[in-house]
Amino acid sequence: MNICLNDRIFEILSEVVTAEDVKAFVIGGWVRDCILSREHPEKDIDIVIIGNGIETARKTARKIDPKIRVSIFKNFGTAMFRWNDYDIEFVGARKESYRRGSRKPVVEGGTLEDDQKRRDFTINALAISLNKETYGEFLDPFNGIDDLKNKIIRTPLDPVRTFSDDPLRMMRAIRFAAQLNFTIEKNTFDSISENAERIRIVSPERITTELNKIIISDHPSMGFIMLEKSGLLSIIFPELDKLKGVDKKEGKAHKDNFHHSVKVLDNISKRTDNQWLRWAALLHDIAKPVTKKYTPETGWSFHGHEYIGSKMIPDIFRKLKLPLNEKMKYVQKLVELHLRPIVLSQEEVTDSAVRRLLFDAGDDIDDLMLLCEADITSKNEEKKTRHLENFKYVRKKLREIEEKDALRNFQPPVDGSEIISTFGIKPGKEVGIIKNAIRDAILDGVIPNEKKAARKIMIKKGKEIGLTPLKHPRSS
Ligand code: ATP
Ligand code: MG
Repeated sequence: MNICLNDRIFEILSEVVTAEDVKAFVIGGWVRDCILSREHPEKDIDIVIIGNGIETARKTARKIDPKIRVSIFKNFGTAMFRWNDYDIEFVGARKESYRRGSRKPVVEGGTLEDDQKRRDFTINALAISLNKETYGEFLDPFNGIDDLKNKIIRTPLDPVRTFSDDPLRMMRAIRFAAQLNFTIEKNTFDSISENAERIRIVSPERITTELNKIIISDHPSMGFIMLEKSGLLSIIFPELDKLKGVDKKEGKAHKDNFHHSVKVLDNISKRTDNQWLRWAALLHDIAKPVTKKYTPETGWSFHGHEYIGSKMIPDIFRKLKLPLNEKMKYVQKLVELHLRPIVLSQEEVTDSAVRRLLFDAGDDIDDLMLLCEADITSKNEEKKTRHLENFKYVRKKLREIEEKDALRNFQPPVDGSEIISTFGIKPGKEVGIIKNAIRDAILDGVIPNEKKAARKIMIKKGKEIGLTPLKHPRSS
């Protein structure tokens, strides 16, 4: 028995296609990941039928359970249904030819081998027969099994043609290499470099799907380094591409910020699967090129890159069609704050600086500390240990202050409506001035985070700006 067919669904499929006398094969990601003993991330099974894929999908679904709904995509000649967590997709074997300037192929019916030729990589073109007489047989005309063993990404046909037919495949090549820790065969990689410009006809959504898969892979730096080397990065993500390179003046050089950024991304990936924290790591120094300055006295500086960087993010997210929601705000916040714990660890760690950091970072403080630790990419072990020790100390102080003052989700002990009713005023700038005075007094440790002390500050500040508390305040 072929272990890749070790599921009830394949038995049922086999019965249906044998009875109907149509040839059917499992193909693509399912077979590849099974041979690699890797869990297929999306639990999708691709079935190719020599004949009508839609008809076979209907018949199979009916046999399993007449209530199953089959989704049909007539234009693509495909159909799919969901069963037991699986998305099972059926397609009639086809032959495709492409015109330049379009990702829409002219499609006609074809043999299994025609269908395998239109697949992107040899490792994705492996098929296993489902018909009874040949059940479990591998059909591997392009030696995909060898490429799997040797960890190689290679196109089944001439790569120039494969990539020119559908340039998204260039992104997929790099994404699979990063996900599977494979190398891209030289001819295939050279062809990506040659065809890089053609990526422009692919929609940003599809490019970003691949970028996200690279980001959540185990060694995302691999993917970004290949994107850079092939020339794709400068087209799809110029802001990141501009980080590369080293400038030297009067013998002083700064580090290569592209390689630094992807290293930080790798570092954080060892500690978190949070996709957005990984994005923050990748983008934390994004404004270094635009803030770069050299002065003979101080050498290279990137003043304000954390702030400018956080302001660049909405534009980048918009272009990449990433969500413009609280995820983006979270990335912005981490980028903006990424130097704060460093500054804190270099200077004397005052309680008030720690309180302000807790106040500004809120619930994201732990993620921010992870980012800062990942940001240490120095090769000097002694320096690295010293920085990590400093952060350990900052973490300890954060814990102490948090326990004492509960500032993580700071709710002012006296709110705006209490200020309004105390002085009998209308909402306006006075309320803001008094609120800030209370907040600063708490953060600076002048008063504890408590109502009674906060009311005292309210009255004091109110008087300073010419307000008089009412004798009988209206209740708020
Ligand atoms: P994953 O599900 O991890 O993305 P996969 O290989 O299953 O990997 P899918 O996008 O699910 O990828 O596609 C299923 C199969 O369809 C692939 O294995 C491949 O054979 C084929 N395929 C998908 N996209 C393309 C493409 N752009 N060009 C050629 N073949 C493709
Ligand atoms: Mg898949």
